[in-house]
Amino acid sequence: MSTLDNIQIIYEVLKKAGNIDAQKALTDLKEQNLKLREENLAFKEQIKELEEKLKIKEQLEFDGRMYWLKNGDTKEGPYCHLCYERDNKLIHLLDASDGFYKCSACDVLYDIRKTGDTFQGFSLE
Ligand SMILES: [Zn+2]
Repeated sequence: MSTLDNIQIIYEVLKKAGNIDAQKALTDLKEQNLKLREENLAFKEQIKELEEKLKIKEQLEFDGRMYWLKNGDTKEGPYCHLCYERDNKLIHLLDASDGFYKCSACDVLYDIRKTGDTFQGFSLE
C-alpha cells in the first residue's frame, strides 16, 4: 500500500471522528508528499542526464583538433570541438571533401590535410 493510500485511510478515520484540524494537517502532509515525489522524479531525471553526459565524456577522445567517441575498438566521429566545449553538444563534422571537414552547427572548417598538434579549424565568416 502506498503512502498516499495510507494517508487516505487515516483521512477517512479523522473525517468520521470529525477532527477538522487533523484532517487539515493530513491534507497538508499529502500535498507535501506529492511535492516530494515530483522533486524525486526530477532528481532521478537529472541524475540520468548527468550519467549519460559522464559516459560520453569518458568515451570522448580529443586528437588535438577534433573529438572522437570511442566504444571499444570502434571510433565514431569526428565531432566539432568548439560546439562540445562551448555548448556541450556533440555535432558530427561533415566531410566537405578536399581534406576539409565542416561543422553544420557553427560552420567551422577543419583542415585535415595538415598534421601537428595545433588547432587548424577556421571559420568562413
Ligand atoms: Zn561546431
